Amino acid sequence: MDKYKVTIGLEIHAELKTRTKMFCDSKNDPDEKRPNVNICPICMGHPGTLPAINKEAVKKVLEIGVAVGGTVADFTEFDRKNYFYPDIPKGYQISQYKYPLILGGSINGVRLTRIHLEEDTARSSHEDGDYSLVDFNRAGVPLMELVTEPVIHSADEAVNFAKELQLLLQYTGVSDANMEKGEMRVEANISVSDTDKFGTKVEVKNLNSFRAAERAIGYEVARHTETIERGEKITQETRGWDEGKQKTFSQRSKENAHDYRYFPDPDLPKLQLSEIPEFSVESLKKLLPELPWEKRERYEKSFGLSVKYTEFLVGNPIYAHYFESAIKGIEKDKKSVELIANYLISDVVGITNKQQNDAIQPMEISETMIGKLTPQNLAAVIKMIGAGELSSRGAKDLIAEALVSGKEASVIAKEKNLIQKSDAGELTKIIAGIIEQNKKVVDEYKAGKQASLQFLIGQGMKATKGSANPEMLKTIFLEQLSK
Ligand code: ADP
Ligand code: MG
Repeated sequence: MDKYKVTIGLEIHAELKTRTKMFCDSKNDPDEKRPNVNICPICMGHPGTLPAINKEAVKKVLEIGVAVGGTVADFTEFDRKNYFYPDIPKGYQISQYKYPLILGGSINGVRLTRIHLEEDTARSSHEDGDYSLVDFNRAGVPLMELVTEPVIHSADEAVNFAKELQLLLQYTGVSDANMEKGEMRVEANISVSDTDKFGTKVEVKNLNSFRAAERAIGYEVARHTETIERGEKITQETRGWDEGKQKTFSQRSKENAHDYRYFPDPDLPKLQLSEIPEFSVESLKKLLPELPWEKRERYEKSFGLSVKYTEFLVGNPIYAHYFESAIKGIEKDKKSVELIANYLISDVVGITNKQQNDAIQPMEISETMIGKLTPQNLAAVIKMIGAGELSSRGAKDLIAEALVSGKEASVIAKEKNLIQKSDAGELTKIIAGIIEQNKKVVDEYKAGKQASLQFLIGQGMKATKGSANPEMLKTIFLEQLSK
């Protein structure tokens, strides 16, 4: 497959989480279900109305720009992108063309071209009859557009990039970036070439999930490769993704920038960003929380967690916060930290997910409490394992109970008889009895049959109703049997 070079560049839109819209004070509420509620003459494009720039929206894009190490523009302006469509009431979209807010930067090694700010369009739904409905609640919502350089070479890499950007938007609170809700939308530019030059690119729109992005890129790469192998040419065009058919389809031939007749919007002031103190790189940096890649590095360095656990926690900040509270309550040796991550991710998350799927009353999940289990109580469970008081089986049962009842680990352990018997004297007595009653097995063991020891240990577990510390059982058996 090396004969064909795959090149991908992404264009990702994200709706910003601001109080009001981009150029008016209509509410920006992605959850509003009633159509055409959050609208006003400005976002409806009535003649004679004047837009005003939403400073909060500008600041949010600049924050992202600083986070990715991009260059904040000294000078910036808004342009009109002219086209005619029912979802664009003014006949143009206010966007940025020549002077975007941010130039350059990178995310996990993928270089960015630019990040700019524009307004979202209305939402149209095409009904079965010969008409369409248009909901203007979304018209004028602040929309960030981030464009990457054509430096991505596989569907996997593209999806990883989009996921990392989503985390960045969520960590910073710039956008909820929920793809199902359309708060983040991915467009992929794809080309395949068997020469040194780039191939003809095709743009695929409407990628509303990571899976759709992955499938659509895979589909296009195969289609381009087959077309080249047939000796035919790829047409430069815009395609859509058909989720039902799992195929892309031709939408329209690619428009050029000049088709949009871009020009600076005369109704809006130009901005000299460098003259606004709160937009200085230093001020913007102060607003940033720990970023996803910073958290990843810290987790790898300070905790030595496996990649799987680190990725889970970086991808789920609520659990990460919970995890960090839990490890406050233990000795921070590698083994205990790994155990906390393990019981949190395998057991606690496992149980809560199952509840979700089984449509049983879902458990509350917050930074300080999952179900009724506090991070401190989870730490107490891990301490008991460390002290040899609890088996891993016992820990699982205890956690399941603590999630529901919220009782303290030590209380549940006593109530459910989960405390491992580590009392050597008592175990020695029980073991002596077992040896007495299983003479034949003991002889077999002495004749070299290792499996007999397992059987005897099993009898010990049975006699103590599973509460014996298995390590201790084994040690005492070996001692007694060697006599
Ligand atoms: P256009 O002028 O058609 O909008 P741009 O140069 O602005 O094209 O690039 C749009 C997106 O397409 C960017 O993400 C860019 O990285 C990507 N891109 C450009 N050329 C190619 C190519 N040959 N193959 C894949 N992606 C490309
Ligand atoms: Mg372009």
